Formats: sequence, structure tokens, C-alpha cells
Amino acid sequence: MVSKHQIKGERAMLCCKVCKKEPHKIGEYIRESREYGLTPEEFVIREDGTYNKITNKFICTACYCKQELTNLINGGFKKW
Ligand SMILES: [Zn+2]
Repeated sequence: MVSKHQIKGERAMLCCKVCKKEPHKIGEYIRESREYGLTPEEFVIREDGTYNKITNKFICTACYCKQELTNLINGGFKKW
């Protein structure tokens, strides 16, 4: 099914902005989406706070944690 908004080739692939993994390749999203009765993709679009509908990208939990850690480390270094 192709909606008006899904013009062929123009829609970016839904994947993690950082590691480029698609939701259905991330175990955590597969598990959680099942609880909601959604596909991993639908789950990200509806429930993931990092999802950006303009770029069609999200940040997966692993990358989000890594980023937080980097921020913490950078923040720590900035104090020097
Ligand atoms: Zn990622």
C-alpha cells in the first residue's frame, strides 16, 4: 500500500541515525513492539521519543546510551 506521502524513492529508510540499524533488526524493539501489537517500525514511529518524522530516523537505545555517556565524558572533560 502506497499512501500519498510515500512517494517512491523519496522516503528515507527508517533506521537508527547513528548505527543505521532498522527496528526489526534490534531485539529490544522487536520484543517491545510485540507487547503493543505493532511492527517494530510502527512501534518506533508511535512510541519512540527520538523518532524524527522529517528525517525518518530515530536513535536506538544502545546509541542513545552511548551518546549520553559521551556527553557525560565530554561534560566531565570540559570542567578541566
Ligand atoms: Zn543505533
